[in-house]
Amino acid sequence: MKNHVDIVHKFGGTSLAGLDEFRRVISIVESAGPRPVAVVVSAPAGITDALHGLVRAAEAGEDWSAALDAVMARCHGLAHALLDRERLGAWNTAIEREREDINDVLKATALIGRAPAAVFALVAGHGELWSARLLAAALATRGIDADWFDARDALTVIDSELGPAVAWEQTRTRFAASWTPAPAVRVITGYIARDERGGPTTLGRNGSDFSASIFAALLEAGEVVIWTDVDGVMSGDPRRIPDVSIIRELSWHEAMELAYFGAKVLHPRTMAPLVARSIPVWIRNTAHPEGSGTRIGAVSSDGGVKGVTTIAGMALLNLEGAGLIGVPGTASRLFEALRNAGISVVLISQGSSEHSICCAVPEEDGLRAREAVRNAFAAEIHQVQVEGVELVPDCSILAVVGEGMRGMPGVAAKMFGALGRAGVNVRAIAQGASERNISAVIPSEEADRALRAVHASFYLSPQAVSIGLIGPGGVGAQLLDQVAGEIPRLASESRVDLRVRAIAGSRRMVLATRAVDLGTWREALQSGEPTDLDTFADHVQAEHLPHAVIIDCSGNAAVAARYTDWLARGIHVITPSKLAASGPLDVWRRLQETRREANVRYLGETTVGAGLPIIQTLRDLRQTGDEIIAIEGILSGTLAFLFNGYDGARPFSAIVSEARALGFTEPDPRDDLSGLDVARKLVILAREMGLELELDQVEVESLVPEALADGGIDEFLEGLAAGDDDMRERLEAARARDHVLRYVARLDGRSGKAVVGLEELPADHPFAYARLTDNVVQFVTRRYKDNPLVVQGPGAGPGVTAAGVFADLLRLTAYLGADV
Ligand code: ADP
Ligand code: ASP
Ligand code: MG
Repeated sequence: MKNHVDIVHKFGGTSLAGLDEFRRVISIVESAGPRPVAVVVSAPAGITDALHGLVRAAEAGEDWSAALDAVMARCHGLAHALLDRERLGAWNTAIEREREDINDVLKATALIGRAPAAVFALVAGHGELWSARLLAAALATRGIDADWFDARDALTVIDSELGPAVAWEQTRTRFAASWTPAPAVRVITGYIARDERGGPTTLGRNGSDFSASIFAALLEAGEVVIWTDVDGVMSGDPRRIPDVSIIRELSWHEAMELAYFGAKVLHPRTMAPLVARSIPVWIRNTAHPEGSGTRIGAVSSDGGVKGVTTIAGMALLNLEGAGLIGVPGTASRLFEALRNAGISVVLISQGSSEHSICCAVPEEDGLRAREAVRNAFAAEIHQVQVEGVELVPDCSILAVVGEGMRGMPGVAAKMFGALGRAGVNVRAIAQGASERNISAVIPSEEADRALRAVHASFYLSPQAVSIGLIGPGGVGAQLLDQVAGEIPRLASESRVDLRVRAIAGSRRMVLATRAVDLGTWREALQSGEPTDLDTFADHVQAEHLPHAVIIDCSGNAAVAARYTDWLARGIHVITPSKLAASGPLDVWRRLQETRREANVRYLGETTVGAGLPIIQTLRDLRQTGDEIIAIEGILSGTLAFLFNGYDGARPFSAIVSEARALGFTEPDPRDDLSGLDVARKLVILAREMGLELELDQVEVESLVPEALADGGIDEFLEGLAAGDDDMRERLEAARARDHVLRYVARLDGRSGKAVVGLEELPADHPFAYARLTDNVVQFVTRRYKDNPLVVQGPGAGPGVTAAGVFADLLRLTAYLGADV
C-alpha cells in the first residue's frame, strides 16, 4: 500500500526547544521502526509566540527587526550544530528567502496597521517549516533516508463553530496528488494548513497534535505517539497541582473531554480522526523514552475518575425570573440567541424549578452574549417576568472526567464535598449528558485551590498526612529520625503517606511544599525563616492534602494555648506535653468540645508514662464497660530512680545530685521533687476517666522544703542536705516494718480523691520491684479486682517518648482509615 506507515510520531515544541532536545529527538527517530515512519513536528518552543509577536509589533507600528533577528539566530544556531556543509548551504538559501518574505509581509502590515488572520497564519507557520526542514536535514546528515513534507500541500481546513475542521474530501484528493512514496523517515509540518480558497491557515494553537492524528488517518497508521515533556497524561496539570499521577489508560472520549476542559497536553480535536479508525495514541516523554506513558484507545481499563482540569476565561450568564417557570422553549430561545450571535456555549445548567437558566460563555464574548439574550427576552424583561440577565465575569470551569463515573454515584458527592471543605464558592453545576464529566463554575481566583482540593479527594492516598512538628529538641528530633526510617515501609505496606512539611524551633522554622528532607532538616532549620506559628499552621493545612496534624514537642505554654484554634480549623493535634490536658478545666473542656465538633483527634498518650500504653489501656477498659475503682502507680521515672537507689548508705541529697548528673532529672530537680509533674499526670488520668479534677485539688506532698522553693539550683542542692537525716529516719522506720519508701500517686475512681506523696509500701508490693526509671501503673477495676492490671516499663527518656508519639501518629492514620 503506497500511503501506509505503521507509526506517526509527533514531537511538540518543548521536545524541539534547543540543541540537546533536537539530539534526543534524532536518537528516538533513529531507533524508531518499523520503517517507514512519519514524524510530525511543532515549531521549537516559543517560536510560534515570537512570530505572532512580530505581526503584533508591525500592527502597532513598532520595530520588529531585532525580534526577527533573534528568531533567525535561534534557528541558525541549531542548523550550524546539526547539519553538514552541503545541507547547511541549502538551509541558508531557503531561510534567507523566507526571512525576506516575512519582512515584506510585516512591512505591508505596518502600512495597513492591521493584520488579518491569514497573515498571522502565514508568518507564524514558518516555525513548523523550519523545524521540519531542520530535522529532515539533520537525519539525512546522519545518513538516514529522510525528507520533509509541507502539510499545506495536502491539508485543507474550514472554520467551524468548534474551531478548524478538516475538509476531508478535498484533503484526501490533495494528499493523493502530493504524497510521494515515503523514504525511511518523512518529517511533516504540524500546525499549518490551507483554507478552502488555498490561503494560509492553521489548526489553532497547540494544533500539531491534531496534524499528527489527521496524517495518521490519511496514512492508515497503526498508532500515533505524541512525544512531549511530561511522562504522559496526568491526573491534573502538573504545573498547578503537586502530586499528580500518570493516567495509564484513557479512552478517546475521556482524552477528548480532558483536553476540551483545558488539559494542554493534547489539542482537543486530536482524537476525532482516530476514533473512527480505531487508532490508539501514546503520550510519552522525550526526556524519558523508556517510560511507557499513557495509552489512549477504545477502552479505558480501570473505571472511575481519570483527571481534573479547569478552563479559565469564562463568564457566567444567568437568566432568571418567575415568568420562566413552566414556559416551554425558554432554553431554546436563549441558545438560539447566542448561536445567532456566534457565541459558543461551554456549559449549561438549569435549575429544576425552571426559575433560572445559566450558561458559561468565553469571557471575551460575555458582554455581547448578555446583549443578545437581553434582546431576545426584551418583552419579558419589560413585563418583569424576567428579572434580568446577569453576567458574572472572571469564572473558571472545573471538570472531573472519567468514563467509569457513570456507575459511581459517590463521585459528585466527593467532588462537591472537597469544594465545600476548601471553601470554594460554586456558582453553577452541570453534568455532561455522556456522564463522562461533572463540571462546576467557580470564581477564577479560587481555581487553584479548587483544583488541588478536588484532585486530592480523588487521587491521593486517603492517608496522605501533612505533618508539622514544633519543638525539634530531644523528643522532637528523635521522632523525626524514627519517622524518616519508617516512611518507605509505611508507604508500601499500608499506603500511608506521611509528609513532614514544616518544622518549627523557637526561633526558626522550615516549610516545604512537598516534604522537608529528613536527612538534612537540622541544616535547613538553621537557615530557615523566623518562626511564625500562624504561617506555620496555614502551611501545614495544605489544600492539596486531605489531612493535617501538628505535633507539639515544645512543652511551651504559648504553643499549647493554640491547640483549640488548630483543632477548630480541622488540624489534628498530637503532643507529649501535659500543659493542656492538666491545665484549667474550662479551657480543657472547650478543647474537647471543639475537637468533637470539628471531628478531629487530639492524642496525648505520652503525657503519662512516655511510651507505655497507659491512657490507651484506660480507654479500652472504660470502653469495654469496665469500672475503674482506683488507679495507683509510680508515675515519675525520676522519683522512681531516686527511691529505687536510696538505701541509706549514701545521703538522699547525694543521690539527687547523681541523678541530675546522669540526666535523669529535669534541669531543675525541684520540678520532679515537688510532685507537680506527678500531680499533672494524675489529673490527666482522672479527666480521661470523666472526673472533673483540677490540679489544685490534688493533695501533693512536695519533697522540696519550703525554704528552698525559690533560689538557685546549687543553693537548693546544698540546702537539701539539711534534710538528709530526716529522710534517713523515714527510711529506717519503714525498714523496721519490712517496708520500702516509694513516691506514689493514687486516684479513687469513685470519689475522685487524688493524692500524691511518699509512702511506705510492703517489701513484696509490686511497686517495690520496679527497676531504675520504671513507671508502674496498677488499674483496680471491677474485672481486675483481686488481681489488678499492671502496666510497667521505662517511663521516661526521649527515645521511648518519641516512639510513643509516633504510635499516636499511626493511631491517627488508622483512624483516618489506614491499615497499619
Ligand atoms: P508540547 O510542546 O509537547 O506540545 P505542551 O506544552 O503543548 O507540550 O503540553 C504539555 C504540557 O501540558 C505539560 O508540560 C504540562 O505542563 C501541561 N499539562 C496540562 N495539563 C496536563 C495533564 N493533565 N497532563 C499532562 N500535562 C498537562
Ligand atoms: N507551534 C504551534 C503552537 O505553538 C503548534 C503546536 O506546537 O502544536 O501553538
Ligand atoms: Mg502541545
